[in-house]
Parts: sequence; structure tokens; C-alpha cells
Amino acid sequence: MLSTLYLLTHLIKIQPVTIDIPVNLSNPLLNDEEVQLLSTIHASEDKKLSVYFGIRGIVYLNQEENIYKNGLDYFEELLKGLEKKGLIEKTDSSFNIFCPNCNYPNVYSRYSCPTCKSMNLKQVQIIQHSHCGYIGPKITLPDTKQVQCPKCNTIITESQELTRETYQRVGFHFECVNNHRFSRPDITHLCPACEARFDYKESNYRPLYDYTLTEKAYQLLRQDKDIDSFLIDISSMLTQLGYQAVHEDKIIGFSSSEHTIPLTGTKNEKVTLFGVSITGDKDDLIQLLGKKMDIENSSAVFLDAYGNKELASLGQVYNIMIVDLTAPTWQNKLKQWLTENDPARRNVMIRRTK
Ligand SMILES: [Zn+2]
Ligand SMILES: [Zn+2]
Ligand SMILES: [Zn+2]
Repeated sequence: MLSTLYLLTHLIKIQPVTIDIPVNLSNPLLNDEEVQLLSTIHASEDKKLSVYFGIRGIVYLNQEENIYKNGLDYFEELLKGLEKKGLIEKTDSSFNIFCPNCNYPNVYSRYSCPTCKSMNLKQVQIIQHSHCGYIGPKITLPDTKQVQCPKCNTIITESQELTRETYQRVGFHFECVNNHRFSRPDITHLCPACEARFDYKESNYRPLYDYTLTEKAYQLLRQDKDIDSFLIDISSMLTQLGYQAVHEDKIIGFSSSEHTIPLTGTKNEKVTLFGVSITGDKDDLIQLLGKKMDIENSSAVFLDAYGNKELASLGQVYNIMIVDLTAPTWQNKLKQWLTENDPARRNVMIRRTK
């Protein structure tokens, strides 16, 4: 009842709904494409999806083929989906002018006359002939390319010195094909895709974003990470709690067969066996159960890097602690379990019952 109400108010309100997905690759909320994109970002050197401007418009680094094949809109929907699920987040990148009509990103720009909108403009230099006091456009003779003062007809050259034969530049203006003069042209944008013309007031000027992975995405992708880093974390936790931690421990069981255990923690002659699984396969759990049963004074912890939710109940049946490494709080849970099942305490209890 409470959750329905919660859902309703959140769906109705403008407030964005954040979907809290369990971090698990097999989660139906993530499709293959999304998983692949996350992995690609994770594999990139700077752990970032960088946007850039290609000849064919906006592209994202290492996603060119995907974008050319399925289109940018499709790809951006994919990004939006991952953002909604809290797996990627925007970082500001650069701004761009988009066509307000068709959203094309590769528009180009021209100057135009503020009066008649003509784009047929020329830039005219304004010069000063101090000798006669002329200030106006620079006039070049068509044959000799020499500059002639239109007021006194002297042939003049540019120089800082003020003589009869010299002129100085004082600025320039634009002149359109219809003889309108102006110092500042309008800027008109043109869209090559739909041929729309628009100015800054109509333009769709918005940022392009790079994307980075969120902590949640890292948790999800940690499943691909080698299990060793987890084992190192756990062995230092064991040491802290007074266990003697051994990697790749070899123990001979009741059956005389030798078991290799990725990690063990020994305290008061009781050993805790750590089994690992990258795939979350329950056969891995059963294997650990076999070892636990064969090894004297042992208890077992199963480290599930995949996050298989079905293992929890099996763990109860086998009396094996299941640690979901994809859960953000796995370290707390494990620590709690190790404290509660501390062999020092367990020993006391066993002596009492004996
Ligand atoms: Zn004009
Ligand atoms: Zn002159
Ligand atoms: Zn357009």
C-alpha cells in the first residue's frame, strides 16, 4: 500500500523517478546493448564517453560505428536510459548550434546585411588621407592596384608617417550587394540538411556532454574484475579480526584428498573457507559445500561476484554464508558475519555444550 502510494506520487509529480536497479548483469532492466556500452566506457583509458565533432556530425569516441549504423537519436536514447538508471552521468563538454528545424548538428554560418539580409557582402577598408582630410573607403585602381584618394586623386600608400603620399587605416565596414553599409553584420546560420536559415534568437544552442560512469556502474562492472582484489580486501579484513589469512591454501580432508582453497582464515584452530564464483553458478557453491564437509572444524563463505539472488536460500540450507560482491554493503555484511561467528566465541559455546 505504502509502496503503491509512493510510486504514484512519484510518477505523477514532475520529480524525476530514479529507478534503483539491483546491480546485476542478468537484471532485466539492462539489455545487452546497455551492458556493452557500459563495458566499453569502462574499458576506455579515461573511463569516459567523450563527445566530439566528426565530419558527419556529432559522434562519441569508440561508438562511431554504432552511431553511423543506428543513428545518433537512437544512441542518445540509449544514453538517456543508462542515465535514468543511475549508471552514467553527464559532465559538461562543449556547446553547439543545432538546427531549430531538424536538430542537425553541423550547421554553418554566414554574415548578412542587417537591412536586406543579403549574404553577398564585402569588407571595405576605411582609410584616412590626412593631407586632404579624406576619410572613407579605400579605392584601388583596377589596372595598377594602386590606391588613389577619391577626393584629391593622389596615389597614396599606407604608412604611419603623415605625408602627402601616405594614408592610414582607420577601420572597416561591410557593404552589401544593395549598397547598404554597416559595421557589424548579422550572423545567419544555415542548415545543410533541411536548408533552414536562422539566427541566434531562433537557434537551438545547447551543450554536448561527455559521460562518466557512476559508482553504481562500477559496482556492476566489478563483476568483470578479477576476483583477486576482493580476496586481498578480505584477507586484510581477516587479519584485522585476528585471523591468519592464507591465499591458495591447501588442506587435506577426512577423505585424504587435498583441497585448494582460494582463501582461508584460521583462528583458534577453526578454519573459514572462502569459495569464489564469477558466474554465480550454484555448482560452485556445492563444490564449496563438499570441501566444508570434508575439512575438519571448518565453516564456509561463498563470494558471489555475479550477484545471483537465488543463492541466498541455498546458502541457508548448506549453512554457508553467501556474500554478494555486487551489493555495495558486502564488506559490512561479511565483517558482521565474521564477528558473530568468531571462533573464539564459538569455541566457548562448543565447550559449554560438550
Ligand atoms: Zn543590404
Ligand atoms: Zn586626398
Ligand atoms: Zn535543419
